[in-house]
Amino acid sequence: MKTNCDICGNEIFLDAYGNGKCKKCHWIKNAKALDYPNDVIYPNVTSFNNAKMLLKNGKRLKPTYAEFLKIVNNNLEPTFKYKNKTYVATTFDGFELCEQDSGDQYQSYNTIEEFGENVKIEGCLLKDIWDSVKNFQLGC
Ligand SMILES: [Zn+2]
Repeated sequence: MKTNCDICGNEIFLDAYGNGKCKKCHWIKNAKALDYPNDVIYPNVTSFNNAKMLLKNGKRLKPTYAEFLKIVNNNLEPTFKYKNKTYVATTFDGFELCEQDSGDQYQSYNTIEEFGENVKIEGCLLKDIWDSVKNFQLGC
């Protein structure tokens, strides 16, 4: 079945479950995302309203920093790139961030609030460099 992307209007094909990914903006059609337009609903990486705003500004889909913290808190193991290195946020023993392959720059915090305020990459607070983060994906 064919329909149109809720974000960019591009034509998309739906599978038997009514799900389909837009090839143009990468939004994944999901009825629940429309019911809760300010929440990040898996498997999309950002909320419906933020996705709309990003598209309007010609940007790729990526969560806001506040949305990123909710994603970490929900144990979705997000990965992203900063300066050609890939980082992963995990929740094995607290709230952790490290380089994906090497495990370098490992940091762990007891609460998601501490993580959000203090987590760093190469000495810079992640919240300050969030605009430069790219290739955001959910790991699970
Ligand atoms: Zn689209």
